[in-house]
Amino acid sequence: MEAVFGHIDQNLSRFMDELFIVLRQPSISARWEGVEECATLVVTAMQQAGIDARILRMGGRRNGPLVFGEISHPANSRTLLVYGHIDVQPPEPLDAWSSPPFEPTIRNGRIYCRGSADNKGQFFCHLKAVESWLHCHGRVPVNVKFMLDPEEEVGSPSLRSFVARNRELFHADVAVNSDGPMDASGRPRVCFGNRGVLNIEVRAKGANQDLHSGNFGGPMPNAAWRLVDFFSTLRKADGTIAIEGFADAIATPTATERAMMEAMPFDESQSLHKYGLTHFAPPDGVTYMEKIMFRPTLNICGIASGYGGEGSKTVIPSRAMAKIDIRLVMNQDPEDIFNKLVLHARAYGFADIEFELLNSYHPSRTPVDHPFARRFTEAVRKGFGEEPVLVPSAGGSFPGAAIRNVLGTPMFDLPYGNADENNHAPDENLSIACFRNGIRTSAALLAELAA
Ligand SMILES: [Zn+2]
Repeated sequence: MEAVFGHIDQNLSRFMDELFIVLRQPSISARWEGVEECATLVVTAMQQAGIDARILRMGGRRNGPLVFGEISHPANSRTLLVYGHIDVQPPEPLDAWSSPPFEPTIRNGRIYCRGSADNKGQFFCHLKAVESWLHCHGRVPVNVKFMLDPEEEVGSPSLRSFVARNRELFHADVAVNSDGPMDASGRPRVCFGNRGVLNIEVRAKGANQDLHSGNFGGPMPNAAWRLVDFFSTLRKADGTIAIEGFADAIATPTATERAMMEAMPFDESQSLHKYGLTHFAPPDGVTYMEKIMFRPTLNICGIASGYGGEGSKTVIPSRAMAKIDIRLVMNQDPEDIFNKLVLHARAYGFADIEFELLNSYHPSRTPVDHPFARRFTEAVRKGFGEEPVLVPSAGGSFPGAAIRNVLGTPMFDLPYGNADENNHAPDENLSIACFRNGIRTSAALLAELAA
């Protein structure tokens, strides 16, 4: 490992230059801008790292380019699958960036650029770990496959079925995903799972046009009230979700998961202070971490109706719309929960409310006592020089279920981003130290998995 670690340090600035080529290429899947071009650049970067790489067409609306890579050695008995994604979130609002969003800029030891942390800079760590192994030892100690998704930021609409149709191609003993931030305490993390998500648009209708709120006010129904009345049926007073059967499938955390959760370094009062709050959302008596990892949510992301501009406008809105996201925990099923929501609306007299399922991810989790877990933990110790925080389930969502549930491959998440990476926000950044330690961790992981 010493030779590999030495090579990483000697070549770090070249690794960054090569990452910058990929970062400069916008790959905004939301409007399908530059994703194809980015896939081509990533194939080249993988080939330069010594990996056999090619583009696979996924089918679906975009027939998007999944970047597949493979490197093996006849003496290896194990295969690691690396998941990552080549697409990024839109950079807007542009004027909130301190430097242009697609021009990688180094300030204060950080690489500022859209995609630096989410996810180009992080999957690049795995490429460079392979390259360093090849340079120092002429081979990798385990076979490695890469699955780089072009549609992660828009809900990976094609991944699940594509993976199901190509099980042999993606067959591996274990998988890794490096995305998202490290622990807020500054320590690295090993995560075993993630919540699922269900993104839904909800629409209510009133009259066939907006109407004067005086001349028509009283008899005419208001679409905004209709939506608000509906939303008020969704939650009980204690903050739990009132949809019939919503919690039926929820798995209660095991004793080991509880112990891990309680060992996580999290200060609730500091968090309240940081966000200018006096109390957290109900229900009371459930810890912050339990809410994040083991409880579902029903979140109103945005509501639009009528007039919200300057001054007043006395109008009865004819349309009201909201976007909601429901975070799901093991073993809730997105489709089942969506159906229960629609049935709830009918049962409460809101059959006129329209629902559109925009996209979804299943929740997924690798058992926290999986025998490979200690190898990932050890790799992080060697790469970051710190004891990782063990996280049974991350609060966020990503298509881990395509690997854990569809392929049946255990997967561990090793986030390499600094805690303040600003993913999805202006001034997204990846600290150079995290980039370096990420490559070291990926390189150490290959050795750990071979042992
Ligand atoms: Zn993202």
